[in-house]
Amino acid sequence: MQAIKLLPDGLISQIAAGEVIERPASVLKELLENSIDAGATEIQINIAQGGLKLMRVTDNGSGIPTEELPLALTRHATSKIANQEDLHNITSLGFRGEGLASIASVSYLLLISHTPAAEHAWEIRSEGPQLMSPEPSSHMPGTTVEVRDLFFNLPARRKFLKTEATEFAHCESMLRRMALSHAAITFTLHHNGKLRHHWQAATVEERISAVLGQEFSEAATWVNEQAVNINLRGMLALPAYSRATRDMQYFFVNGRFIRDKLVTHALREAYCDVLHLDRHAAFVLYLGVDPTQIDVNVHPTKTEVRFREGRMIHQFIYHSVSKALAAPHTGAEFATH
Ligand code: ADP
Ligand code: MG
Repeated sequence: MQAIKLLPDGLISQIAAGEVIERPASVLKELLENSIDAGATEIQINIAQGGLKLMRVTDNGSGIPTEELPLALTRHATSKIANQEDLHNITSLGFRGEGLASIASVSYLLLISHTPAAEHAWEIRSEGPQLMSPEPSSHMPGTTVEVRDLFFNLPARRKFLKTEATEFAHCESMLRRMALSHAAITFTLHHNGKLRHHWQAATVEERISAVLGQEFSEAATWVNEQAVNINLRGMLALPAYSRATRDMQYFFVNGRFIRDKLVTHALREAYCDVLHLDRHAAFVLYLGVDPTQIDVNVHPTKTEVRFREGRMIHQFIYHSVSKALAAPHTGAEFATH
């Protein structure tokens, strides 16, 4: 046994990055969350070689003040929460202050930002854990983050990545989740210079059909249930449109895509009389709850949540979905959250 030693900062960041950044799609998730939190209405994504070579996200959001650029790439630095009370009332997608720092520690990162108050844009670069000084740059109001050569300094991790096509497919499904939960934002995605997706700001109904196809929307019925401090809205495919896999199951809580046993169970129960055992339901559902009713700080990737009143949530989902399946109808437009 060797003596106990404190690890160098760069190594600490890389270990932490391992939890959040698994593959290019995780980089895309962190960057899109940041653009959405910054109030962007237009987000452009450029990917090269499945995101292994390059991932660039440009938004027209609030921007980052020049003096805060180095902090944006520093671990545990965030503008989204300030104290313990905020942690129990999360209204943004990010709050851990480690997305950009994690990405920066395992790539070549360039961050360019222009706030409305600044005369011009500024940029800052990092090469792995090494941070450079900010320099003047040019950019419209908003932010661009460019991530090159992901895992260049972690060859073991890079070896685990799949083919370019598979990594790109993961990026696409990440984008689908973000686009389904933020219909009011225009998303454009280019891969290797080719336009692959362009979803104009739209109503939720239009966005669902743009992302999942007309066929899904036509086979779906609306859910629109409200109770005190909780609501469930969205579209459920009728049993005839069941799937062989769970590939079309989208569940969002307060605009965040989640996977949750309790939710899955409630949905399976609601579908159990109408769906064959080896078939899977297709749905896009938006649950709205008071932020104090959920704990998002369960896992670094934030795809898990804990519900304070799990039983009530289970019943609400079960009843809303059963009711919609029993009396299918198309409904009016609604907001996602
Ligand atoms: P978190 O999102 O959890 O706060 P990040 O490391 O992802 O942590 O981002 C750190 C900070 O940098 C954010 O809190 C935000 O203030 C700023 N930031 C990052 N990306 C953007 C962006 N696209 N537009 C505006 N500000 C951003
Ligand atoms: Mg973030």
